[in-house]
Amino acid sequence: MLDENCLFCKIITGKIPAKKVFENESILAFSDINPCAEHHYLIIPKEHIENLNEMQDNHKNILGEILLTASQLASQLGFAEKGYRIVANTNEDGGQTVHHFHLHLIAGRKLNWPPG
Ligand code: 5GP
Ligand code: ZN
Repeated sequence: MLDENCLFCKIITGKIPAKKVFENESILAFSDINPCAEHHYLIIPKEHIENLNEMQDNHKNILGEILLTASQLASQLGFAEKGYRIVANTNEDGGQTVHHFHLHLIAGRKLNWPPG
């Protein structure tokens, strides 16, 4: 379920501290250590799933919950109306550096498109 060598699994177990903004039995959201905007959070499942490629039919609920958590955090933290971006970097070309699925929730400035 968890991978002892995984950075985000260590955040889930508390081995590595993080600034949490939301937690329930299946999801954790915390501030990114190297924010690229005023608001930059990571939303992760409390199960070690590497990325979207590994998601199966039985992950539909957790995927939906993670996306809804992003929307709810955007409202609670006050940037839903102004806008935000959700990103799921996947593998090498996607720029994924931590191989535990996560959504980036980014807000607080006008973001460029397309990404670099
Ligand atoms: P990726 O590049 O895999 O899409 O995103 C990984 C994210 O994890 C990066 O934005 C990076 O700043 C963040 N990160 C890496 N190490 C840590 C850490 O120890 N704590 C926190 N809170 N974020 C981290
Ligand atoms: Zn993990």
